[in-house]
Amino acid sequence: MSSEDLEGIPARLAEVKRRIEAAATRAGRAPESVRLVAVSKNKPAEAIRAAYAAGQRDFGENYMQELTQKAEALADLKDLQWHVIGPIQRNKAKLVARVASFVHAIDRVELVTALDKQTEFAAPFLSALVEVNVSGEATKHGVSPDGLGAVLEALGRSTHLRGVGLMTMAPFVDDPELARPTFKALRELRDRHGGAAALPHLSMGMSHDFEVAIEEGATLVRVGTAIFGARG
Ligand SMILES: *Cc1c(COP(=O)(O)O)cnc(C)c1O
Repeated sequence: MSSEDLEGIPARLAEVKRRIEAAATRAGRAPESVRLVAVSKNKPAEAIRAAYAAGQRDFGENYMQELTQKAEALADLKDLQWHVIGPIQRNKAKLVARVASFVHAIDRVELVTALDKQTEFAAPFLSALVEVNVSGEATKHGVSPDGLGAVLEALGRSTHLRGVGLMTMAPFVDDPELARPTFKALRELRDRHGGAAALPHLSMGMSHDFEVAIEEGATLVRVGTAIFGARG
């Protein structure tokens, strides 16, 4: 990462926060109801340090080996919270439990079981979001809307995990408006599974579509490129 890219992080972060606030206000929502997860995958630990220095505390990573290395390098940043946002292999459950406060991509009962068996956790409980493939695209990860109930029940039975919401990835399209039906569908699905009282979080929206996601109820937006620049 060039020093120019690194130096631009505080300004880009501030701009993303400004856009989050504007979108929330437009939707009649409190700006504090949207939490920004800065997606730092493929970016060096020093980029995370720069965002942390500018006040950012929630960071998202996809790959466990990368996350483990960064968590070690940044262990001095005590109140930093790690969000695992990518698919999780069962044999990585121990690493996930040890570092993560949030997991966004729970997609099967066996994963809940594997995580719940762990003995060492970074947080008093692991906040878990179930990834749903709302659009039904074969290329997308996540449980089908029909399979969601079983995963939520497993979370309800678990000791160390708390089911706090749903996550989705919108189809990758140029016009962010085309992502709106996917975000709306996730919110409606949440409303059929106990509503915001049971599942307060909706993790949806990335660099190119987070404003639309906020208008549709996102409480966690996962933004990488707009903060850290393009991934090489
Ligand atoms: C990489 C990634 C993001 C961030 O994407 P940007 O377009 O860089 O903002 C968000 N969510 C998930 C699941 C990702 O893998």
